Amino acid sequence: MASSHDVIVVGLGATGSSATYHLARRGLRVLGLDRFAPPHTVGSSHGQTRMIREAYFEHPAYVPMLQRAYELWGDLEHEAGTRLLLKTGGLMLGRPGSAVISGARLSAARHALEHEVLSAAEVARRFPCLSPEADMIAVYEPRAGILFPEACVRAHLALAQACGAQIHTHEPLLNWKADSPAVSVTTERATYSAQRLVISAGSWAAQLLADLEPPLTVERQVLFWFDPMQARESFSATRCPVHLWEFDEHRFVYGFPDLGAGVKVARHHGGASGSPDSLKREVDAEEIADMRALVRRFLPSADGPLRSATVCPYTNTPDGHFWIDRHPTCASVLIASPCSGHGFKFSSVVGEILADLATHGTTSFDLSLFRNRWPLRSG
Ligand SMILES: Cc1cc2nc3c(=O)[nH]c(=O)nc-3n(C[C@H](O)[C@H](O)[C@H](O)COP(=O)(O)OP(=O)(O)OC[C@H]3O[C@@H](n4cnc5c(N)ncnc54)[C@H](O)[C@@H]3O)c2cc1C
Repeated sequence: MASSHDVIVVGLGATGSSATYHLARRGLRVLGLDRFAPPHTVGSSHGQTRMIREAYFEHPAYVPMLQRAYELWGDLEHEAGTRLLLKTGGLMLGRPGSAVISGARLSAARHALEHEVLSAAEVARRFPCLSPEADMIAVYEPRAGILFPEACVRAHLALAQACGAQIHTHEPLLNWKADSPAVSVTTERATYSAQRLVISAGSWAAQLLADLEPPLTVERQVLFWFDPMQARESFSATRCPVHLWEFDEHRFVYGFPDLGAGVKVARHHGGASGSPDSLKREVDAEEIADMRALVRRFLPSADGPLRSATVCPYTNTPDGHFWIDRHPTCASVLIASPCSGHGFKFSSVVGEILADLATHGTTSFDLSLFRNRWPLRSG
């Protein structure tokens, strides 16, 4: 079958917009398809801010990818001529043996990353907006900060188009088929063919890979913005680093400085599972009360009126690590994007990795943590 494109990318959120950009700038004929018009508020890449940090408590194997991600965000910022990353420093807080603290220290030690270990009293003295409990400690890393997700997606897509990529929005993929060695995809408007297909459909990935029955769960998460009533200046980006707390075993809350819209806070995990198409989008009084109790405990001066809240889903794998691999039976199909609620910061490098896999079949990064690792149906 004659291929009308070299690569089709389905899903143009964080991962797919980056993959489209990296493929297009290599001169490939790329078609990017999305069921909405990214950046939008229905997937997993909205909400004004995303944390980027390097002393990665989740596993030291992420650090080389993170270091490349930082370089690529810098390059993108330069090329797009717009601010995408704000360095604030970052604090991981918890009890000394907690996963957050021991994991961050392990990554920092293994990769010789600049960091400091602070007592609760030192945290409160240096960052008066934060109120850790006396038995908590913190790992402070100066390179952590904030990515602006909507601007990142917009920049990747605009620059991909400038390199010749075709971007079709409001065009959902209905199904795809391997026509060895090519792939054909059908949307509501047409059928297209290509040498390679990248599936980066976020919370909808399982629907496009239904034959494999992948063990992914879509988890509802709520983001809250509170107005600080007192000490507003202590939440400014120069005085308040991004912060992530393991306040009880495997129970997490995180937050950002006030960039003008209020102090953003959210739980990391602990939400209800469901389908991306029927996710409850309203935030109820009980959820607000739950978050306000955490704010009073750890950021007491942010306990002002709620300014806004929004819902955004995670797409979780069983072990919390990413899924980046070839389709187990269709080698022309690459799967990426289920990233368990911590993938935005990596999307710059994951796009580059997907372009490497699509063009050379290999990448210089060790992806062993991210391979197909569950029993998948043959498809
Ligand atoms: C509340 C919240 C907070 C987070 N905080 C952080 C953080 O601080 N730091 C961090 O690194 N990560 C964070 N993450 C994780 C990160 O934001 C996500 O992992 C990442 O944005 C997901 O990108 P994606 O490309 O996989 O999915 P999306 O951005 O959701 O993109 C998927 C796209 O696929 C499209 N699509 C779906 N089905 C089809 C179809 N059939 N046809 C065509 N298009 C289709 C959708 O319209 C969508 O645009 C957070 C996530 C959430 C939800």
